[in-house]
Amino acid sequence: MHEKILLVEDEKTLAKALKFSLEKEGFQVDVAYDGEEAVRAIKNEEPDLVVLDLMLPRMDGFEVCRSIRRGSDIPIIMLTARSEDIDKILGLELGADDYITKPFNTRELLARIKAILRRTGQHAGPAKKILRYGDLQIDFARHKVTVGERVVLLTSREYALLSFLASNPGRVYSREQLLEQVWGYNYCGDARTVDVHIRHLREKIEENPAEPRLILTVWGTGYKFREG
Ligand code: CA
Repeated sequence: MHEKILLVEDEKTLAKALKFSLEKEGFQVDVAYDGEEAVRAIKNEEPDLVVLDLMLPRMDGFEVCRSIRRGSDIPIIMLTARSEDIDKILGLELGADDYITKPFNTRELLARIKAILRRTGQHAGPAKKILRYGDLQIDFARHKVTVGERVVLLTSREYALLSFLASNPGRVYSREQLLEQVWGYNYCGDARTVDVHIRHLREKIEENPAEPRLILTVWGTGYKFREG
């Protein structure tokens, strides 16, 4: 029941404070102080979620993230000092699940951790359904998305966003509604996060991402999944 979090942060004071706060919430927390230690800990400790600082000695957060993603889809929340990094962080290559910009409020980090774990905890749910839209097929039971014969590799957030939209075809959602429904908390207003994920999803599932036919933009409002 006690979910295990690996905290990767070289600033010892911050690491200690975060460990304390997370443990107070009932999590089991391991701390790694550099990237190499983090990669080892992920193999040995099999955490449920990783909180990963971007600026680390020896091997930075990007490298660690890439290394994790080669073998695992474990949820990753990146800590970054610069919001310009988000495109790369949430991107195809790295595939972190979320990010938080330093300095941050511990409660906000906790909310994000809980939202992600709530969502990943639902994976064993009873959904046994397959949705098909043209060449796109979403197998909810197996969390598998295919376009024709091609298996599409999605990050867990991309999958959550796609399955949410595709389960409600034709319904228009604003970015704020998507943040609330898919991210699971009241995101403090960074709607770009939604746009970045939509763009990546389109690159992965649309025949021509520049002229999307599955995930449609509703100008001035938000997005919807095509009907029928
Ligand atoms: Ca650092």
